[in-house]
Amino acid sequence: MAERPRDPNTEEMAALPAPAPAGEDPTFAELLALRRQLTMDPAAGLMMEGVALAAIARAHGTPTWVYSAGTLRRRLGLLQGALDDARAKAQVHFAVKANPNLAVLRTLAEAGAGADVVSEGELRLARAAGIAADHIVFSGVGKTLAEIRYALAEGIQQINAESAEEVEMISAIATAMGVEAPVALRVNPDVDAKTHAKITTGKSENKFGIAIGDAPALYARMASLPGIRPVGVAVHIGSQITAGVSAYRIAYGHLADLVRALRAQGLPVERVDCGGGLGIPYRDEPPPAPAALAGAIAATLGNLGVELMVEPGRWISGPAGVLLASVILQKTGAERRFVVVDAAMNDLVRPAMYDAWHGIVPVSPADYVAPIAPCDVVGPICETGDTFTRNRGLPSLDPGSLVAFLDAGAYGASMSSTYNSRPLAAEILVDGDRFAVVRERQTQEALLAGQKLPSWLAGAT
Ligand SMILES: *Cc1c(COP(=O)(O)O)cnc(C)c1O
Repeated sequence: MAERPRDPNTEEMAALPAPAPAGEDPTFAELLALRRQLTMDPAAGLMMEGVALAAIARAHGTPTWVYSAGTLRRRLGLLQGALDDARAKAQVHFAVKANPNLAVLRTLAEAGAGADVVSEGELRLARAAGIAADHIVFSGVGKTLAEIRYALAEGIQQINAESAEEVEMISAIATAMGVEAPVALRVNPDVDAKTHAKITTGKSENKFGIAIGDAPALYARMASLPGIRPVGVAVHIGSQITAGVSAYRIAYGHLADLVRALRAQGLPVERVDCGGGLGIPYRDEPPPAPAALAGAIAATLGNLGVELMVEPGRWISGPAGVLLASVILQKTGAERRFVVVDAAMNDLVRPAMYDAWHGIVPVSPADYVAPIAPCDVVGPICETGDTFTRNRGLPSLDPGSLVAFLDAGAYGASMSSTYNSRPLAAEILVDGDRFAVVRERQTQEALLAGQKLPSWLAGAT
């Protein structure tokens, strides 16, 4: 039996090994040392908490997402603790788009998290997971009339408005409904979070928020409009931020100046929403400490007497998940060895979409210690983009061997598609030595459901 989950209060990064030499990938042991929920048991193979991943694959097949409940709780607690220690006590709203699995949301809700949602679907999921509407923030650059109406009817805690046009829309809807909408203004602080271009959101060229220079006039307009209660300001500058916290510090400094300017005009500001974006070490990026983020919040916004909120997604759930896959075959190509697995870019799109690096660790104890050689790990999908990694050191893997893609708990299942008519993979939650299916594998019948032939085609019924 592998060891039980370790003390949830110890520092997450305490076991950090020396970084791999530049250009060299971390070893399997180095990858596991950073991820305490994963251990290599000499008999049972790779374990998550107290459960052998091979047992999950035997019972439920692959590809399968597996999440560690202990890690979700531990990381939420670490973040809350860091904020408390810095005297920057904040409500933590989990960004549902990172992992919208109901059991994941429920686990986080039981541990005290609220939610940040970006669609009616996410709002419904958060409510279904038991998160109170007055603990949910609705963000997004294009909320529809129907979505705003639904959110107000639910009694949402806060809508983060992203444009002057949207403010007018919310006012009209709320007035018609006879309610007052609690609205914060999402500002674009024009800072460069130095992350991948597809996930940077706080530069003036990006579609998000309103220019910080336009914020005072719009906030005053909000205060004068019927149906709107201005509650504060918000930012979210990007995702997978690993280049220190200086971009946060600059953005929050601008927000603090804005809060003071608004108050000088006699406008009420109760809350500041600090957004998400804290990065995680997928390969060997320097792990950004939640304490550094908390320190940046405390130093800039700590003395304003506002309620603080943060909206992390990836930092909480990313390291908590793996994608378990089976090797279909190894193919000796003209120039290289290909390991073809039964997971593909429709399951985990991050490598294809963001050039992301994910650790890939063999599940069997024998594969774990076998000599490694470079290979490409690819899925079965009919395009070259369906490549998880190139030139990765892995042992020779027989058909049926299991591998785990690490750090797949955020923007993994949530970004899956059925491309190549591949059913959505199953999802499993591990908690100590228990595990349960928390989303069934999509059936072939469900893939076809909803499709119809028009009356003029032969075979229509
Ligand atoms: C995506 C998003 C987040 C979460 O980002 P992470 O990088 O996963 O922490 C938070 N707030 C808003 C508004 C978002 O769009």
